[in-house]
Parts: sequence; C-alpha cells; structure tokens
Amino acid sequence: MAGAGAGGISEAVLDAVDRRLLDLLQRDFPLNARPFAALGERLGLPEEEVLARVRRLKSPEEQRLIRQISAIFDTTALGYKSTLVAMQVPEDEVERAAAAINRHPGVSHNYQRDHAWNLWFTLAVPPDEDLEASVQTLVGEAGGYPYRLFPALHVFKIGVQLDMEGAGDISPVESTQGDRATPAAVPSARDRAFIRELQEDIEIVPQPFARVAERLGVSQEEVLAWLQEAKAAGWLRRFAAILRQRQAGYVANGMVVWRVPEDIIEKLAAVAASLPQVSHCYQRPTYPDWPYSLFTLIHAKSKEDCRAIASKIAQAAGVSDYAILFSTKEYKKERLKYFVSTQEIMASKSHSLYVEAQRYMPGGVNSPVRAFSAVGGEPLFIARGEGPYIYDVDGRRYIDYVLSWGPLILGHAHPQVVSALKEAVERGISYGAPTALETDLAKRVVETVPSIEMVRFVNSGTEATMSALRLARAYTGRSKIIKFEGCYHGHADFLLVRAGSGVTTLGLPDSAGVPEGIAQDTLVAPYNDLPAVDRLLSENRGQIAAVIVEPVAGNMGVIPPEPGFLAGLRGLTKAEGALLVFDEVITGFRVAYGGAQALYGVTPDLTCLGKVIGGGLPVGAYGGRREIMAMVAPLGPVYQAGTLSGNPLAMTAGIETLKVLAEPGAYERLEENSARLADGLRAAAKAARVTVFQTRVGSMFCTFFSGERVVDYASTKRSNTNRYALFFRAMLANGVYLAPSQFEAGFLSLAHSGQDIERTIEAAEAAFAGVGV
Ligand code: PLP
Repeated sequence: MAGAGAGGISEAVLDAVDRRLLDLLQRDFPLNARPFAALGERLGLPEEEVLARVRRLKSPEEQRLIRQISAIFDTTALGYKSTLVAMQVPEDEVERAAAAINRHPGVSHNYQRDHAWNLWFTLAVPPDEDLEASVQTLVGEAGGYPYRLFPALHVFKIGVQLDMEGAGDISPVESTQGDRATPAAVPSARDRAFIRELQEDIEIVPQPFARVAERLGVSQEEVLAWLQEAKAAGWLRRFAAILRQRQAGYVANGMVVWRVPEDIIEKLAAVAASLPQVSHCYQRPTYPDWPYSLFTLIHAKSKEDCRAIASKIAQAAGVSDYAILFSTKEYKKERLKYFVSTQEIMASKSHSLYVEAQRYMPGGVNSPVRAFSAVGGEPLFIARGEGPYIYDVDGRRYIDYVLSWGPLILGHAHPQVVSALKEAVERGISYGAPTALETDLAKRVVETVPSIEMVRFVNSGTEATMSALRLARAYTGRSKIIKFEGCYHGHADFLLVRAGSGVTTLGLPDSAGVPEGIAQDTLVAPYNDLPAVDRLLSENRGQIAAVIVEPVAGNMGVIPPEPGFLAGLRGLTKAEGALLVFDEVITGFRVAYGGAQALYGVTPDLTCLGKVIGGGLPVGAYGGRREIMAMVAPLGPVYQAGTLSGNPLAMTAGIETLKVLAEPGAYERLEENSARLADGLRAAAKAARVTVFQTRVGSMFCTFFSGERVVDYASTKRSNTNRYALFFRAMLANGVYLAPSQFEAGFLSLAHSGQDIERTIEAAEAAFAGVGV
C-alpha cells in the first residue's frame, strides 16, 4: 500500500510486519490450536507479539482496522436465498427509506449510489422464508418506490482482500468459481450451533478455538475438525480477517455494470475476476430499462483508480458499454448472521455488546456473577427498568427478581424516587460538605434499626463491613474475627475467606491476592452451628474482636437462621466480650422495616447496611451503640472517610425509598406476595416431580435444587447446580429474570403484582417440567 489514502492509516503506524500480517490474516487464518503461534512462525515473531499486533490493529488507535476475524460462510451453500435489490427513491426520502430497510436483519449491505437507481441493498432470508415476499414487504415499508430484483444468476468471484503490502500480485482470495455442481448438504442442528458460534469474532487469545469450544460445550479438537468438514461441505468459504476498507485507505467503492453480449460474459468476467481490486463479479438479470448483465465491485483508493481499473477491464475484454455507480453513502454494512432466528438476532445485540465489553473489562462485567458463568449463556444487556420489569437492549421484557441484587425494593424507576432525584440533581451532584439530607436519612435509620444509635454512611456494603470490623477491633483491642462459611461480607481482603456469593458461584474458596497473614485472623464456623462458635471462642479466649453474621444468609441461596441461632450468638459474644456484628446489607429494610434484628428480636452491637437504604444508588452504612460509634473519626481515633460518602443523590434515593416503605401495609403486601410466589414455586416443582427445597424470609427467596434441608454451606453446595442452570435458562426464555446462580437470593418488590406472580408460576411450571426429575 503506497502511503495513506484519504481517511486511511498512515504509513508510520503500519510497519512492514503489520502489512504482511494483515495480508496473511485476510487470506487464511490457521485453523489449529495455536493459530497466532502458527502465524508467528511464518512471520518470524513470537506468539505474544502476533497477539499484541492483532490487538492493536483492532484497537481504536488503529481505527479498528480489523473489523473481525471469523468464519465466513457461503450464503447459498447454507440454503439461504439472497438477492441484490435496487430502488428509485426520491432524494429527500432516501434517509427514511434506508432506515426502514436497515431494520431487517437479513439486510447486510445498503448503499446510496449516484444513479437514478439510487438505493442498493442485499437481502438474504433463511431456507424456509419466501425471498420475494420479504422484498415486497420491505419495499412497502420503505415507501413503496419502484424496485428491481437482481439475484445472482452466476457467481464468478466473491471475496474481498485488500492488498496491504502493495505488491499487487496477490492472487484473489477465491479464484473464479462457477455455480456449484452439487448442492451442499443441509446443516444439522449441531452444524447450526457451530455456525452460530463461529460466525462471531474470535477472541484474541492464544487459543481462541478453545473459547469457542467452551461455549459450544465440545472439545477444541471437535471445533477444528468441524471447520474442516464445513470447508469440504462448501459451507465455509474461509476463516479470515475482514478489514474496514475505508480505514485501509480503500475509500472508493464503485459498482461497475456491464452491457455484454451473452457470448463474451465469460471472457469479461475472467478479466475482471483476475484483478485483486475486483471483489465481486456476478451475472444478474436484465430489464427493459436496465441492459447491464455483469456486475463487478471495485474497491480502490480513489474514484480515478476505480475508473482506470474499469477502463483496463473494458479494453482487455473489448467491451465499451458500462456504467460506474459510486457509493455516496453507506447505510449498512455488516456480516449476515446465519441460523439465528429473528428473535435470536435481536438477542445478538446483547451478544455484540458483551463481546465488545469483554475487550475492555475483565469478563465484560463489573461484578463477577453478572457474567452468567454459573448458568451458561451470556448476560443480557439492559436498556431500562420500569416497576417489576427490565427490558434488554433488544426490547425484550422480563419480570425481574434480581432487582439490582436487592436494592430496588420499590421496583425500577419508582416515580417518587425518580422525581426527587431529578430535583436533587438540579441542585448539584455532590458537595463534599454536610447536607440536611444526611441527617434526614440517619434519623430514619436510627429510629428504625434497634441496634443503631449513631450511623456513618459509606458507598457500598463492602466499605460498611470493612469499617465496622475495624471499629470492632479498635473498640475491643483484639484482632481476630469469626465469620460463617458461605456468608459474604463484601470483598475486603480479610473477609474473602470461605465467602459466599460470586466466590461460591465461581468455586473459589478464597481469592488470589489475599496474603495469608491477613486471612489468618479470620476464623470460620459453619452457619447455624452454635457449638462451633462456642469452640472457636473458647480456643481463642480474649482474642476475638467480633463475630460477623448475615442474620439471614443471602449469599449461598437464602438460608434462614435456625431457631435460637442468633440469640445464641448474642449470648456467646456478650459472655466473651466480643462484639456481635449483623451484616444486614441484604436484610436491612428488606425482611422487615427494622431489618432481621427487628424480625428475630436480637440486638447486635454493630449493624452494616447497604442496598435498600440507597434505593439503587451506591450507599452503605454502619452503626451501633453511641459509645462504640464515638470512636469513629473525627470524634475518635478510628479513621474512615469517603469522597462521595453521604452524597446528596444517594441520600435522596434512600430517603424516598424509606418513606414509601414506612407507609402502612407495605411489608404486609410484600409478605403476602412473596408467600404466594414461594408457595407457587414449591407447588410447581412438586407437580413436575422435581425435588426442591424452597426457602423464604420476607421478600427474599430461593429454590434449592436439593432433596435435603439446606441449613449451611455444606448442604447448599450439594444442590444440583446443573438443574438450576436449566431452570434459569427456561425461566429466562419465558420472560422471567432470576439470579444467574443457585447461590444467590431472589427478591420481590412492591411493584410486583399478583399477575406478575401468576405469570412467574406458570413459567416455572413449564421450566420445572424441562429440568427432569
Ligand atoms: N454484605 C452482604 C450481606 C452482601 O450481600 C453484600 C453484597 O452483596 C455485601 C456485604 C457487599 O456489598 P457491596 O456489593 O455493596 O460492596
């Protein structure tokens, strides 16, 4: 490539190795376990450098020159029917017509061209759909303007390869090809699953096919073998990189149409197809007002180059009657997705967002359980929430029982919360100075939660537990703490010991990166096991600063405390001079207005809050007896601070949420609906003869796929997570969004109606039936 074309990548950015790499990637991507290592061998580079270069060539700094690296399938061989369509649209209607056409998932290219036939698009439909009827509908939606169908009568060449090295002698990607002599085999359901995965951009990692295999639930060898079979079957044209032509400097896209006598079509096609700048060469039908039968697509760096190439072909073939239609606007240019039902194509919006997200964020998410790794499939990307529903980016609605992992006890976008937030935001987003709002929320917390006489607001549950335990250690002058197996208290180092939630889901007993010295002061007892706590206390007499517990365990499913467990902890800690810390990040204002301590009548020394008290904004809090809280800076020596702590928006959302919750009947309604749901789920499982253990405390619930009573971490881990995954996926397909893990709580809101609950139970009846006994 001779320097930069307009809008192209500069010479300085792409060195000779980049160019050679791009040419190799476009021609044939090695189909083996370590493709980047294989490319490295050809280029004399280590695998890591090839990976680094490819990542850079896909990055924004290089204008994402590589669009994607994936399998490129043959539309016709897969049984799809396709056609090029031309329309004559009045100039001022082109935008609207193009937008209407673009909505169809089978439209992969849509260009405005400088001709009376000014809108050109390609449409492909699956084997069982009627192509002409689809065109008619689409044209109708686009304004009903005159149109012509140009299906390919003969394919002479198909495949774009941009010459990045400038040698100009690279043979075409696919040499000229005639019509297929024998029709390709029909892809089976298994083949379709492979096609769906392999048409997506691969990850730029040493073993990209291993990732594909993982998603398909097969071995890497099976994926590689299938690719070879697909090639032999004619389905797979090639596996290669597609570049963004404009970024590569190929800014001119000229469709050259030829009026050729039938007997020299072959000759002209042969000349055209031999040129690397000609990407497509097709014979198409003629009409009384359209005499051109051969279509060639030329990609060049300028219109002049394009014209020169056309003239070269004309001379060589001895044909003079042709026209060049340059594209003046690209309305759509994307890869056609095969064997994805229209619904699934819609879902693929979430998919493409997820693929992109994974490039920039570990696992594509900002909190691990969101990634769906425990249940398979991919996370939905959410566009909006309203009441009990969330809507994904593809417009599908789900009854939501995750509710942002608990905070949204009023449902999504509660009007009172939203309108207070709108007013608050107008007054400034954060001041880093005291406001009356903080005292308002503090007062509500102190007046409601039995153990709290003073409170400090922070930004998350993690900060709340971490700070509360610092305070407990300072107050008692002791360093050890006792926690319970399977309880999760946020991700502070010393609390990531036998924690629940994502840590349980991912099967990590501890987190990497937590120094042993830090973990050794954290002692662990089984949940609901008072004698074990007693033993630990007596073995460590005078050394235990605090026992921290989720009064209802909500991070290994939902496990209620056994009768006497919480009161027993109160007695034991008091006798030993240790503090009892209730982590009510989930249960606070959830299981009762005063939290679990009000529900069970046990008062801890310190309480941690989060979730509901922020109404969906980032808030945490810790509080307790005045004499303990007086040790917190600036009153006392325990340092703890936060740039955004107590910020006006979070306080506002929290205040409005608590106001609604304080209205008479709120918790009664939650209780009634939650009981109805839990009973319904239990009955649905029974009817389908699926053994489950259903738990519920207030509006927290869990369906364990287990035949035993689940009371602690050991018993929760015996649940059948495969069955949960099947159940989860069936519920999702039926419009119900449950937590994507067996070890998380389900939540209900005041926005869920009886009808929502009925629909959920109906969905569960069907879902249980598919889970198996
Ligand atoms: N404590 C409990 C009981 C929790 O469930 C959680 C989070 O789910 C936390 C603490 C940590 O809260 P955050 O995620 O806001 O840091």
